[in-house]
Order: sequence, then C-alpha cells, then structure tokens
Amino acid sequence: MPEPSGEPGSPGGGANGRVFDRVLLKLSGEALMGELEYGTDPERVERIAKHISEVHDTGLEIAIVVGAGNIYRGLQGAAAGMDRATADYMGMLATVLNALTLQDALEKQGSHTRVLSAIQVTEVAEPYIRRRAERHLEKGRIVIFAAGTGNPFFTTDTAASLRALEIHAEAILMAKHGVEGVYDADPALVADATFIPEITHREAIERGLKIMDSTALSLCMDNQLPIYVFNMADESNIDRIVHGERVGTLVSSGKAF
Ligand code: UDP
Repeated sequence: MPEPSGEPGSPGGGANGRVFDRVLLKLSGEALMGELEYGTDPERVERIAKHISEVHDTGLEIAIVVGAGNIYRGLQGAAAGMDRATADYMGMLATVLNALTLQDALEKQGSHTRVLSAIQVTEVAEPYIRRRAERHLEKGRIVIFAAGTGNPFFTTDTAASLRALEIHAEAILMAKHGVEGVYDADPALVADATFIPEITHREAIERGLKIMDSTALSLCMDNQLPIYVFNMADESNIDRIVHGERVGTLVSSGKAF
C-alpha cells in the first residue's frame, strides 16, 4: 500500500462528526496476552491490530503506548532481589518487544506505522523525537511509543500521560479487557462492585481507584487531560468514544452531571 500523502491532520475535533481527531491509546502488556499466562497471543494481537487499523482508516490520528506486563515488570525483578533500576530497564526493553509485535500486526492490516523508542535501539526503532512523532501522525502513520518514559521508577501509564500531553492528544483511551471501565472495587474479586460512569481525576486519586498509577493520574489532572477507560473487547468502542458517545468510564477534571 502506498504511504499516505502527508497532508496535515486537523487536531481539534470536527472531521466526520468526530469530537477527537488525535488520541493516545494505552495498551497494557496483558492486553496482548489473551488467555495465556505469559507472552503474546497472536490471535489476540491480530484482533487488536484489526480493530486499531479500522478506526485509523477513518482518519483518526492514533498514537499507542504499550506496556510489558505480559513479559516483565521491574517490580518482579526488584522483588527477586535485583536492583530496581536494572529491573525497570529490563521492563522498558520488554515494551520494545511488544511495540515490534504490534507494529508487525498493524502493518499486516495495511496500516503504516513507526515505532519511536525512549531508549536507543536504532536498528529496530526511531529514537523518540516529539516533533517527529507529530509529523508521523499528520502523515497518517500510527505511532507506537516504546520503552515508556525511558526512566526507571516510572510506568507505561506515566509514559501514556506524558506522551499524550507532548503530542497534544485530546484524550487518553485506556484499553481494558473484560471490564467496561472503572468500578469501586475489583469486579473480578467483588461480585457487587459498582460501575463508575464518570469521575474526576482528583476523586479517583483520593479513592485510590486502580485506573492508572498516581503519578500518571496526577499528570492528567494537572493538565486537564481526559481519560476514557473502556472495554477493548467491544470493537466499536474506540469509534464510539471519538464520536462523543458515552462509553466506559470518563475520568475528567469536572463532572458533566
Ligand atoms: N518501565 C519503566 N519506566 C517507564 C515505563 C516502564 O521503568 O517509563 C518499566 C517498569 O519496570 C514496568 C515495565 O517497564 O514495570 C513494564 O511497564 P508497565 O508495568 O507499565 O506495563 P503494563 O502494566 O502497562 O503492561
């Protein structure tokens, strides 16, 4: 497929009835794991790639931050006695593996992609350069941010908040599997956990709700960046969110009702 023409996009909303034209999608490592206990499930990855590629084809600019919980988490290594920073760097490298997996799957769907890494791995990914990321998005490429923030002691949730702000994404879309959004307790453990359709960043932090870690959530709060927590298993959800439909949980700076 030829590369798109390079006409600049039009962030700010409006095209095709969309309320958002540029979003940042956060995919946890577990999203790629499917029903497996570890690693990546090729069928799950293919489904996710198809879903992303289809919404991208409608003209939506999509950047993705991918985690690595399906492969490695720094805290695991630290718990086993490893130096935390070393373990975190391993976690960041693991996100590069997931980014390449996702890139391959998206390109099989016909999308054009670029992986931009916060840690230099120049043979396989471009270094992260903010302006370049924005240019790729304008040219119709899906940008995959790898290696988190590039710093130990952070998470890919913080990378999602940081990159979303840097590239002027209008919202973060936090993909979940098997749950519709945020609940007042873990629905896997508490049968009558109550679904929360809308909440402020501040309240989510105060109530300790597991949406993102507190560093990531604070960054969104301080910069009024909305977060949509939604079920990725429903293939229409991203499209519905970017068209202004209320799907999943909206975390924002002020309640709309
Ligand atoms: N990590 C890090 N700095 C970052 C992002 C990630 O050190 O900016 C490391 C950290 O060890 C983390 C691992 O990479 O545990 C994988 O990221 P994360 O746990 O956020 O993945 P997810 O939960 O989204 O699958």
